[in-house]
Amino acid sequence: AAGCNGAMSVTGDYPHRCPNCLDRPERGPATMTSAAQDHEQQVYPPSPEFVATANAGPELQAAADADRLGFWATQAQRLDWATEWSEVLDWSDAPVAKWFVGGQLNVAYNCVDRHVLAGNGDRVAIHFEGEPGDSRALTYNDLLAEVCKAANTFTDLGLVAGDRVAIYMPMIPEAIVAMLACARLGLTHSVVFAGFSSHALRSRIDDAQAKLVVTVDGQWRRGQAAPLKPAADEAVADAASVQHVLVVKRTGIDVDWTEGRDLWWHETVDKASAEHEAQPFDAEHPLFILYTSGTTGKPKGIIHTSGGYLTQASYTHHYVFDHKPGRDVYWCTADIGWVTGHSYIVYGPLSNGATQVVYEGTPNSPNEHRHFEIIEKYGVSIYYTAPTLIRTFMKWGRDIPDAHDLSSIRLLGSVGEPINPEAWRWFREVIGAGQAPIVDTWWQTETGAIMISPLPGITATKPGSAMAPLPGISAKIVDDNAVPLGAGGNGYLVLDQPWPSMLRGIWGDMDRYKDTYWSRYAEEGWYFAGDGARYDEDGALWVLGRVDDVMNVSGHRISTSEVESALVGHPAVAEAAVVGAADETTGQGIVAFVILREGVTNTGDQLITELRNQVSTEISPIAKPRQISIVPELPKTRSGKIMRRLLRDVAEGRELGDTSTLVDPKVFEAIRAQGK
Ligand code: ATP
Ligand code: MG
Repeated sequence: AAGCNGAMSVTGDYPHRCPNCLDRPERGPATMTSAAQDHEQQVYPPSPEFVATANAGPELQAAADADRLGFWATQAQRLDWATEWSEVLDWSDAPVAKWFVGGQLNVAYNCVDRHVLAGNGDRVAIHFEGEPGDSRALTYNDLLAEVCKAANTFTDLGLVAGDRVAIYMPMIPEAIVAMLACARLGLTHSVVFAGFSSHALRSRIDDAQAKLVVTVDGQWRRGQAAPLKPAADEAVADAASVQHVLVVKRTGIDVDWTEGRDLWWHETVDKASAEHEAQPFDAEHPLFILYTSGTTGKPKGIIHTSGGYLTQASYTHHYVFDHKPGRDVYWCTADIGWVTGHSYIVYGPLSNGATQVVYEGTPNSPNEHRHFEIIEKYGVSIYYTAPTLIRTFMKWGRDIPDAHDLSSIRLLGSVGEPINPEAWRWFREVIGAGQAPIVDTWWQTETGAIMISPLPGITATKPGSAMAPLPGISAKIVDDNAVPLGAGGNGYLVLDQPWPSMLRGIWGDMDRYKDTYWSRYAEEGWYFAGDGARYDEDGALWVLGRVDDVMNVSGHRISTSEVESALVGHPAVAEAAVVGAADETTGQGIVAFVILREGVTNTGDQLITELRNQVSTEISPIAKPRQISIVPELPKTRSGKIMRRLLRDVAEGRELGDTSTLVDPKVFEAIRAQGK
């Protein structure tokens, strides 16, 4: 493949593998080239039609290169400020940044009021689609009234700026209203995913000393009304900080009631005044605390502030999704319980006056057609989801999306994990009609907003690569000694310049903040992301997954995601998780857990042999899994990430570590039964 120029391998709209690359070189353990490197040759340039109307043009990168801080000051002008800042960045107290020093704004005003004042009050902000089939459209006028009512209620309850509020709710409009009401009053919200246990909620309430908990009687899950208030009740039982529990009636099921503490939303918020004037807050006022998903250990309470966070959320939503207010119908399928829901359901889209879909339920309620019906019903044009769901769609088969008119889709996005090239191509081909650009967005709870991603209309993308840092963002791939690596070298992803939406700390534990992110490259003052990455020959950036997930087999460093991609490349496999388990002879041995596609009949030893051979030819004989278990499910966090650290516990025969953020701890019974 030497000398292959990606651009040459493209004819017309369809990518073809470069003729040079068809002859795959013999792969030995010494080279350890990866499956991903085949895909490095495939390039999908933007279509001329897309380029013609794209929000992003080449001037964006040029402006950022010329004057990075000036560039961010320009982006901050996307927002309405009550008081202009005096300095763009104060980094003198590193690693705690101050952005837009002295500036004042109200985040909720920027997400709601100003669109109404600009004459767009009748525009739909939220097309809500309930799981049982109920639906409701909220215009920006409606949203403003609701947020004002909630803000007045919160004030009546005695809450003042700086207080913390826990939000434990399913995906219903009131959850977004509650977040915005907090933002409006300078209350710091802590959203706790509604699938978490009372125990997880309690530890987050205690950690932040929340005074108010907003919840629901119950939530709709697969056609059933599942109680939620009992978990909230259990969590707040003798929690000293909690003064009130505000309850939205979503399902109408019976609930226990504590007089004096519990309040119904419909008896308070619905009856409150819809007039409320927003006060400005400092750019560095804490907007929210959010706990990471816990794939690598105990969740951390990440702190985000106001001005810089909203600037970057708004900037990225506008350019990365090529969002056109008033024209696009945007749908981010995340839950507000994780950061994607914060930045790309609430703050980014609403700050940009978006019209978006909010869906309450699971993708297979009442059946696997649900997402595609919703896309059809609302004419969704931008669809942002996670690789885990794309692989699930693949497993269900393309007949399902093919039964729908998805022609409204013009852009697709992915976030949460590295997306395997196989899933990327399927996404583009089946959901994007072979045309929609895909933005593979790398970022973290800690980064607050997208950091590394293609820019539609500019970037020629490669399946599986997040491509490049956005204009204004600076990243490096370095080795243990902080030496930047060139093409091909696997290293650590670091962010070598502060960015506006960066975290400002870990709630209550600044030592852990410094230790986790800033101690590894203390001398250089770089942020250590904890992910491995590589640049290819064309300078495209490939995120390889967690550093903890890089395996060491007989001295060779092999990425879990590459072995997983090789396994998913086999037609029988829907999803795979790979871990390195301690091995007396090789240091670590590769253990794989795979889920098969629907309808696969070849399930026995022959399949296992095929899979091992597949990895061997795609990557190297060294990467052949020591063991492959076919399992019905994989342990995932509610944000859809595979919990490899727990699989490693299984593979090494240990007690399981912290399982508090898992969707379903029972999957381990099935996995243990298979993984002899
Ligand atoms: P914890 O930090 O508690 O272990 P977590 O890292 O899973 O949890 P998040 O902040 O939700 O919590 O996830 C960020 C991580 O997700 C990134 O560090 C990266 O490993 C992965 N990730 C997100 N987007 C992408 C992407 N587009 N490509 C590759 N990896 C991604
Ligand atoms: Mg993390």
